[in-house]
Amino acid sequence: MKKLRDILVNQSLQRKWMLTSSAVIFFSFTIICIVVYISLHTWLLNDELSKIKRTSDDLVSFLESQGPNLTIQQIQQNTGLLNSIVDRNQTVRMFNVDGVEIFSINDTSQAAPLSVLHEIVEMTIDKKDAFVINKPIRLGFFRGYIQVIHPLSGYQSLMHYLLTAMLIAGVGALVLSASIGYYLANYLMKPLHSLRSSMKTVMDKGFNEPIQLTHTSHDEIGDLLKMYNAMMNELQISFIQQQQFVADASHELRTPIQAIEGHLSLLKRWGKDDPEILEESIDTSLIEIARMRKMIEELLELARREEKDDMSEADAVAVIEDVIGEMERLHPEARITLSKKEEIGLLFITENALNQIVRNIIENAIRYCEKIPEIQLSLSVIGNEVLLKIEDNGIGIAEENIPFIFDRFYRVDEARNRQRGGTGLGLSITKMLLEKYNSTVEVKSEKNVGTVFSMKFPLKY
Ligand code: ADP
Repeated sequence: MKKLRDILVNQSLQRKWMLTSSAVIFFSFTIICIVVYISLHTWLLNDELSKIKRTSDDLVSFLESQGPNLTIQQIQQNTGLLNSIVDRNQTVRMFNVDGVEIFSINDTSQAAPLSVLHEIVEMTIDKKDAFVINKPIRLGFFRGYIQVIHPLSGYQSLMHYLLTAMLIAGVGALVLSASIGYYLANYLMKPLHSLRSSMKTVMDKGFNEPIQLTHTSHDEIGDLLKMYNAMMNELQISFIQQQQFVADASHELRTPIQAIEGHLSLLKRWGKDDPEILEESIDTSLIEIARMRKMIEELLELARREEKDDMSEADAVAVIEDVIGEMERLHPEARITLSKKEEIGLLFITENALNQIVRNIIENAIRYCEKIPEIQLSLSVIGNEVLLKIEDNGIGIAEENIPFIFDRFYRVDEARNRQRGGTGLGLSITKMLLEKYNSTVEVKSEKNVGTVFSMKFPLKY
């Protein structure tokens, strides 16, 4: 049994399925056949028993009803009536007390021994099975026995025929169930096979090839393939983004490192003796190091992606006023105003996240402005959301560049904006934080006029 289980465990799912379904069908069929066979066997055998019993009883009662004066000669001359009681295949013999045969009807088989009386016994006569009954009889002064032999050949050939038919049907059922099992297993396993080969492709070649499994069925396997497709597509996207991120990050970090390296080698060669070069190189190196630190901090911020806190709440006015105060200290030339139409409730966002979002956009408004920066912030409630608009009078963004400004390391004017101190990460952090707190952002801009960032935050209650 254990060996059989070991063999079964190591088979493919398809074979297991086929073997199990054919075994189940075959065993059910066999059990039904056995039940039918035994029931028929018992029923037919009882029928044969009742036939011999009826014949023997009828014979005895017929002969006894003829009265005590009935002679053997009369019986021998009138066997016609007795013939109508006896079945054609049955043999009837009458013996005297000494066992001498007096007459017989049908005579299709030899006489059986008179050893057992009254009871029906099964015997083999002439190599054929038969039921035999010996009944004592008394007719006037005559005493003897009536013997009825009922052959079982008809019953046996019927049972034999039934057994053969069942065996043929059983083999047919086995072949049919195995073929149906094989076909079904093959049909149901097909999507799993393609799932396996897709997984193998991912294992061997990574996410470089497109993953698309067709799932036409609406059953559990169809659902599984649909989920696999969705999961793999998401993994593929994040894998590609990850690769892009690493490539961009290393490229962006290389620039300040190269600048610092250049200045340090300049210092090594001449700078030690030339105070002007020394001063300039140290200043530039410090600026590059500061930029690098900012970029690393922002990269870490992006990579961190903490789960949102359901307890988050922020007082929008207080947070925005804080940021405005800080910005005004850093950029005294900028004019920043906040207006609100009505009381603003608590927003569903952490104060830190809101602070960072507002700070990034105001910093950009100041950075990308060639006049005296004028920045207007306004707050209003729309339904269960709060609309925050931040408008500036900066250089604006061309229509075609707007869809990309939230991408990592994207700068509209690569060279110039790097000089302005941008890392290209500010707005992607802003977008990431907004998405985290189910908030949205829209950008409208006109070149040389200014830009408007409109954000909608859900209210806490
Ligand atoms: P950076 O650190 O370079 O500012 P951001 O992700 O914050 O990166 O912004 C991406 C780009 O979008 C900027 O390089 C700039 O070209 C453009 N941009 C963002 N805000 C403004 C704005 N208020 N006015 C004009 N251009 C802007």
